[in-house]
Amino acid sequence: LEPWQDPRAVPSIVFDHISRSFEGAMAVNNVTLSIYQGEFFSLLGASGCGKTTLLRLLAGFETPSSGQVSIDGMDMTHVAPYNRPVNMMFQSYALFPHMTVEQNISFGLKQEGIARAQIRDRVGLMLDLVHMGKYAARKPHQLSGGQRQRVALARCLVKQPRVLLLDEPLAALDRQLRERTQFELVHIQESLGVTFIMVTHDQEEAMTMSTRIGVMEEGKIRQIGTPTEIYEYPNSRFVAGFIGEMNVFEGFVTEDEADHVLIASEESGCDLYVSHSASAPVGAQVAVAIRPEKVMISKEPIIQHQVRNMTRGIVDEIAYLGDVSIYHIKLASGKKVLATLTNQFRLAERPINWDDEVYLSWRPESGVVLTG
Ligand code: ATP
Repeated sequence: LEPWQDPRAVPSIVFDHISRSFEGAMAVNNVTLSIYQGEFFSLLGASGCGKTTLLRLLAGFETPSSGQVSIDGMDMTHVAPYNRPVNMMFQSYALFPHMTVEQNISFGLKQEGIARAQIRDRVGLMLDLVHMGKYAARKPHQLSGGQRQRVALARCLVKQPRVLLLDEPLAALDRQLRERTQFELVHIQESLGVTFIMVTHDQEEAMTMSTRIGVMEEGKIRQIGTPTEIYEYPNSRFVAGFIGEMNVFEGFVTEDEADHVLIASEESGCDLYVSHSASAPVGAQVAVAIRPEKVMISKEPIIQHQVRNMTRGIVDEIAYLGDVSIYHIKLASGKKVLATLTNQFRLAERPINWDDEVYLSWRPESGVVLTG
């Protein structure tokens, strides 16, 4: 049982109805959120949605207009940043340019007046942890972006915070390095058991690294869940559209039974039969979301499992991406549907081409009913 599924588990960080407005505009709007010790929690959202402000409220660089923030049961709302068991790693890394790697990492400990031998041990461990032992005597300008990022991380972690806040920690790295560093960061976080809270606008990054994600929009948290929950069961049109590609069909409920919901949808050209735990009152205006990789396409009708989720269209475009191809299919209603097929076979062997008429279908459990 994960802590967030366990009603007896005590959260480490609690945002309790917290708001922050700037000149009348709500940057953070009534957020309530619990995070558990050892989690890798990501705040995900578009630019300006309030994720950095939420992080700064936890660090103490902002004070809330209303609401409370507590850490390990202690009210932190009016505690100064340096008295909170929290450390923040900034996007710019903010290393001291005139100091060596080792001096950068040990700086905070010296200020705390920790004994020299202990500093040497702790800094040594951190240098090993981030694989920077060889570079201990270098200065920041002699390091690559990825190396600087690791020094900044070591400098934060050496102070043994309970919580580390990371604001877009990988934004300065190129794609390849970013992907490698994602795994390194998770590995380090898991080995230390420190709670990481990361701000990112990159959904792939959030999906890869997090135990849970909070999806934000306009100062509000729209959904909290594991990467799988957010991806498989978005709770609203907004989240469905924000994370990955999604086919969304509008319609209205015609049947609401124990084992299924049936939705009439002109857009899709068929009745939509959804079997997994969904419920919505008959007559309600809802949407059904289906991931492109759940859509099957074929030149012949597929009728093994369910006739209802089957419609027809014309292949409008095929985007070949190497590992997969994305088929854009136009339905009679004019609605475009995306279907992703893995390229296990060479494209030349693909039986489905541009302008072909195809049948589209999906399983009853592939659809998600969205009411919000
Ligand atoms: P980004 O990804 O671009 O950093 P974000 O989601 O982190 O965006 P915030 O930085 O939290 O967003 O900002 C949320 C909103 O609050 C924005 O509209 C921003 O302009 C506003 N805001 C943030 N800080 C201040 C401030 N000190 N004074 C006035 N407005 C602010």
